[in-house]
Amino acid sequence: MNKPRLLLSETHAVKKLLRDLRLNTVCEESRCPNISECFGSGTATFMILGDICTRGCTFCNVSKGKPKGIDEQEPYRLLDAVKKLGLKYVVITSVTRDDLPDGGAEHFAKCVSILKKGIKDIKVEVLVPDFKGSEEALRKVLSSGPDVLNHNVETVPRLYRAVRKGASYKRSLYILKKSKELFPHIRTKSAIVLGFGETKEEVVSVMQDLRNVECDFLTIGQYYQPSFKHHPTVKYYTYEEFEELRRIALSMGFKYVASGPNVRSSYKAFESVSI
Ligand code: SF4
Ligand code: SF4
Repeated sequence: MNKPRLLLSETHAVKKLLRDLRLNTVCEESRCPNISECFGSGTATFMILGDICTRGCTFCNVSKGKPKGIDEQEPYRLLDAVKKLGLKYVVITSVTRDDLPDGGAEHFAKCVSILKKGIKDIKVEVLVPDFKGSEEALRKVLSSGPDVLNHNVETVPRLYRAVRKGASYKRSLYILKKSKELFPHIRTKSAIVLGFGETKEEVVSVMQDLRNVECDFLTIGQYYQPSFKHHPTVKYYTYEEFEELRRIALSMGFKYVASGPNVRSSYKAFESVSI
């Protein structure tokens, strides 16, 4: 069944509400092509902890630099927005905050707790940074009771230096592995973005690494270079190639796989939790 799409005027009303409440969404910031479908079906991805990142991924359009302090009222405004928009599934993500001692874990946990207390049956997915590999920070977030812990590996290990400066492939796998060890009932999820220059064999190898840490859900999408300053798009994958990778991933044991050019980490996120 097709999900409802919002009319242009409704999409504008949602955007105005988000601006009035001073909330950032990845949906808007990244000009995501799925915005009308997602908002229309009750899903949105909120970006907490500001819009300036301390890392320097060369594919990402988020501003880099020195972030501001924590906005303690943000979780309450988030609750307000989710209620007003009637959302049923919320993805909370953030820029990486290496400047904060806990990487923003406490703030993540506060957002989840307030949403869970404030709205009956709300499903919350957290798409977290790597917290520099801190188990304590991860435990803090998981203790707040999210339904899904998402952490993206983004690309194959060979391309980390060129694409994900400041990140570590092993550390990202560790976050997913540790999450399963600490809270086995919380589903884990990751994403691979294609088009940076990876080979099919490397992508399949990453999928296997994710299964080895018992990652439950996977999304695979196409990279589109945001500007000439960003990492180039080396390859555009066909629908057939996306479908082939989806089938390979499912055969490895992932419980849910979304694979396609416009698939984003949070695309149709609500579908996976019903599995
Ligand atoms: Fe927002 Fe994710 Fe949907 Fe894009 S796919 S509109 S980022 S929820
Ligand atoms: Fe963008 Fe995330 Fe990388 Fe920061 S850590 S530059 S927000 S992809």
